[in-house]
Amino acid sequence: MAFPEPLERLIRALERFPGVGARSAERMALHVLRSSREEVADLAMALRDARIETQRCETCGNITLRSPCAICSDEGRDPSVVCVVEGPREVEKLESAGVHEGLYHVLLEGFAPREGAEPDANALNALRRRVEQEGVTEVVLATAPDREGEGAALSVMEVLSDTKANITRLARGLPAGARLEYLHGEILADAYRGRRPLDD
Ligand SMILES: [Zn+2]
Repeated sequence: MAFPEPLERLIRALERFPGVGARSAERMALHVLRSSREEVADLAMALRDARIETQRCETCGNITLRSPCAICSDEGRDPSVVCVVEGPREVEKLESAGVHEGLYHVLLEGFAPREGAEPDANALNALRRRVEQEGVTEVVLATAPDREGEGAALSVMEVLSDTKANITRLARGLPAGARLEYLHGEILADAYRGRRPLDD
């Protein structure tokens, strides 16, 4: 064992984070040693609060303090149109573009099939249930035009293939590889208004 046991234990815990290898985990752990006791207490509290005080909305899967989230509980919105996005940042972006009056379904990052990761079957099955039971007539795919986003879109199409919902997607013309969260609101609004059926 290279380090005293408590430090080894921290390194092992940090290594479990996605994208963190042994070297980075070690660097992060040594950074913790250099931090003040207050900073470390804040970090521990932030980890705890983030885990305990937030949850996924039981309807749309977005991360929220209270479930159902504010958007799902807003009776002024149109429940027949559901926009499928990869994460909370895309919800925020579409909300600020102000074009989507329906609800959302949030797949959450880490959903998209990448090396070794299984698609999140729960998010997909929940979407299918919503379509079958809650009168959803249009599902708008607003996943990013990159490899992960396209993979997510394919899985959604598959799981909805024998339902009656019309599946549309944002107009092409979004820059290839662009993450929705970085797009200018007007570009996103245009892509939303110009959405078209999949087989178009
Ligand atoms: Zn919700």
